[in-house]
Amino acid sequence: MGDSRIVQDSQPAGCGPWVEYDCLTCGACCASQSPGRGYVFLTDADIGRLAAVALPIVTSVVQDSDPPETMRSLGTKLDPNGTKVCALLDGCSGGRNACSVYDRRPGACRGFEVGSFFCRQARQRFGLPV
Ligand code: SF4
Ligand code: SF4
Repeated sequence: MGDSRIVQDSQPAGCGPWVEYDCLTCGACCASQSPGRGYVFLTDADIGRLAAVALPIVTSVVQDSDPPETMRSLGTKLDPNGTKVCALLDGCSGGRNACSVYDRRPGACRGFEVGSFFCRQARQRFGLPV
């Protein structure tokens, strides 16, 4: 999830209306496509910054690294529409929502660029304009 309200510079070709990328009525990137229970990768810095939050952390072991590496990620839940989303999302993906830890959100979320290829791909999964 990026900034709360951004109008893209690069718009669809032609004379159609400008597309507004409003993260607070989207949250598509906070929906998990992962098969497991974890979603956003957490670093030590993320966990330190979020120390005051009761984080639902899922640990998994990467077997093909030598030695095997333990990875931590944020857990998931079902939103009111039954979509698997990050456990820290308030509201619904594809609808009104907000990240409950926005100012302290993990680095992976901070680096997710509004209007990027992956942003547009996520929005398309919810039928949102791109
Ligand atoms: S998919 Fe894009 S527009 Fe939607 S919440 Fe994420 S960054 Fe914002
Ligand atoms: S931490 Fe916040 S921005 Fe990141 S996936 Fe969860 S709800 Fe979305």
